[in-house]
Amino acid sequence: MLSKPATTNDVHVSEKIKQNKFLKFKDSLVSSRAQIWRSWTSWRIAAVVFMTIALVQTCMLIFATMGDFESRRLQDLRESGRAAIMPLINTNMTEILQSPLKETEVNRLFQATKINGISVYTLGLMSPNSDRLELLAQYGDPLILSLIDTKNLNRTFRSSDGNTYEFIQRISTVSGSYFMVIRMDSTHIQEQLFTFVIETIKIMLLMSLFVTTVLMIALGRWLLEPILFMRDNLMEAYKNPENPQIKDSPFDPNDEIGSAIDIAQSLIRQNAANISQIRSAAEDKIHKLAYYDTLTGLPNRTLFLQNLAEKSKIKADGKTERFGVVTIDLDHFKDVNDSMGHNVGDAILRGVGKRLSSALPDTAIVSRSGEDEFAVMMPLSTDINTARDVAERIAGVIKNEPFKVFNETFQIRSSIGVSTFPDDATDPDQVLKNADIALNRAKEEGRDRIKEYSEDFDRAVQARFQMLRDLRDAMEHEELQLYYQPQLDLRTGEIIGAEALLRWWKKDNSKEGSTFISPGEFIPVAEQSGLIVPIGEWVMKRACTTAKTWHTDHNLDIRIAINVSAHQFSQSDICAFTQRTLEEIGIDPHKVELEVTESVFMDDIQHTIQTLQNLHAIGVELAIDDFGTGYSSLSYLRQFPIDRLKIDQSFIRNALNDQDDAAIARTIIALGRALNLKVIAEGVETKEHENFLVAEGCDEVQGFRYCRPIHEDDFLKFALGYNGKLDSFNND
Ligand code: C2E
Ligand code: MG
Ligand code: MG
Repeated sequence: MLSKPATTNDVHVSEKIKQNKFLKFKDSLVSSRAQIWRSWTSWRIAAVVFMTIALVQTCMLIFATMGDFESRRLQDLRESGRAAIMPLINTNMTEILQSPLKETEVNRLFQATKINGISVYTLGLMSPNSDRLELLAQYGDPLILSLIDTKNLNRTFRSSDGNTYEFIQRISTVSGSYFMVIRMDSTHIQEQLFTFVIETIKIMLLMSLFVTTVLMIALGRWLLEPILFMRDNLMEAYKNPENPQIKDSPFDPNDEIGSAIDIAQSLIRQNAANISQIRSAAEDKIHKLAYYDTLTGLPNRTLFLQNLAEKSKIKADGKTERFGVVTIDLDHFKDVNDSMGHNVGDAILRGVGKRLSSALPDTAIVSRSGEDEFAVMMPLSTDINTARDVAERIAGVIKNEPFKVFNETFQIRSSIGVSTFPDDATDPDQVLKNADIALNRAKEEGRDRIKEYSEDFDRAVQARFQMLRDLRDAMEHEELQLYYQPQLDLRTGEIIGAEALLRWWKKDNSKEGSTFISPGEFIPVAEQSGLIVPIGEWVMKRACTTAKTWHTDHNLDIRIAINVSAHQFSQSDICAFTQRTLEEIGIDPHKVELEVTESVFMDDIQHTIQTLQNLHAIGVELAIDDFGTGYSSLSYLRQFPIDRLKIDQSFIRNALNDQDDAAIARTIIALGRALNLKVIAEGVETKEHENFLVAEGCDEVQGFRYCRPIHEDDFLKFALGYNGKLDSFNND
């Protein structure tokens, strides 16, 4: 393959790269020179090197140079001494027993030279062949070295202060050999040695300094600079791990440090790449979690609202797109979840999501906006030109074909709310809210239906809010009252109990000064807001106090029945409260009955069983109110410590003209008997109702036939004045 010829441009570029590299290198040298003097490591290394050089040189100075210098100086001294003496020797002496030196000359010698003492020896006279020496003459002070024979003539003497030096000199003359011990003043050698040592130390220090400096610069260049470069890289990677701004390494990658830097840089870059990969994966995941529903994979409410806001923007042509917003709630989905398990529930939700997505055009946005809630937004076109059309299509795909899960089929229906942008609202959030309001209306009206938003719904919602505010005020100002309705034993005719029922005359500007609000209206509002908990507690205290007065002051030993809402079960510790209240008031728990509706069984079933058992353990009686209307709890009945079933008034009302209702009433009475539970019928209005119930064997009754709910004073009058005969009620 032919390589592309280098163009002038390429040459320029490579020149530039080289120049840049050189500049970088120069910069790094300058900076390293500056940094080297600040580096503690360099200083430590320099100190060690300096000390080592100094130590080695000192040793050399002491052990070699100094000794050598001194011996050479002594040698010189000796030579000078010999040279000074030799001319004074009388070499022609024939008399060996005379000193070859003349006294006068020696004295002059002492003054002119450093010689200050001489001993002259000659071989023994007595035995000429022996080597014993005899002292012939002594000039100056006596010498330290003395000669006995001719052995060891190399001896020298140096005084401890170094000022005196003695050595032996042999001198031959015609008459024979003389041996002289010559003493010389060597003070100057000491001084010279001292000067020499000082000079040498100076040079040594300079050399050490030079070597250290060179070493420091070399260290800076080859060690410190790369280390600092690597440190800066690591620091940058630490501060900015995802996007480290690391420079290219100016160091030779073939040496150890250069290659270590290269490896570190590769690791830093690899780490950065890993981090950004992890981050982007995490961001994707977070985005998915934040904006998508994990079960169905559909957009969630947040993303749906964003899309809604986007879609509702005014377009370039100044117009807005018309679209329908549909909210869907699966009817009784909770029952399916509770009874069949969450796996089945999840599969159905996924199925609904799929059906909605595939049944609607691509322009539609389908989202899962709550547990069993979906929301759809779809631009309206000529094909589907009303939001209701969209809703009908949706209802159809959910309802027309049952869902198959684990070989079981589930018929799912839905409640649907519909709203149109911009017809119903120009604010995207409000369009969704309107669809939700319409959906609630659909649920309230019995589910399995489509409701289009109307401003009336909104007014109804506002009215509920107003009612809630008023109810709170009523609570605070103690405007709520309790009325009591008697409960009678169908066999004996006796009054055996009273149901406490809330009454609210809302103060207003009307002629009467107040308006009666039915509990059927305000109890659901109180339940939705949680206000039912304090209201319920007030009811229990009040009803038990009244009953206690009846028991003790009027010998009216009857049971008090108190309605308890399902919300009180889930939102408060009703058990502890009941026990405390009964103890405070001092009422016999067996004289208190709590009425719960079947809706309590739709919440956390284990919690409900536990609460009911705890309540029963306290001693209070338990009744299921409006029995037969709610979610069938027949299978659970055996598990609950229930004392009484209260047949819903609708069955009694219709028992005489509707065979089905009569059959249900009959069945409930039989069920109660079979399970050893008392059965009370409410809504007994006529003698015929009563006859029916007597014939079926019902235990107890309550209804307008005997007495409407009345004020506690009236109730007392009624109960004390009652003759105990059911026949006395003649209101047909
Ligand atoms: P409920 O507990 O089923 O109470 C019986 C309802 O039937 C009462 O309506 C009572 O006035 C009415 N009633 C009794 N006999 C007859 C009759 O012969 N014919 C007809 N047509 N109706 C009869 P009320 O007082 O309007 O209460 C409605 C519901 O409000 C109660 O139904 C109960 O669920 C709830 N409620 C009332 N007071 C309280 C309370 O203190 N706490 C709670 N949580 N709910 C309460
Ligand atoms: Mg009741
Ligand atoms: Mg009832």
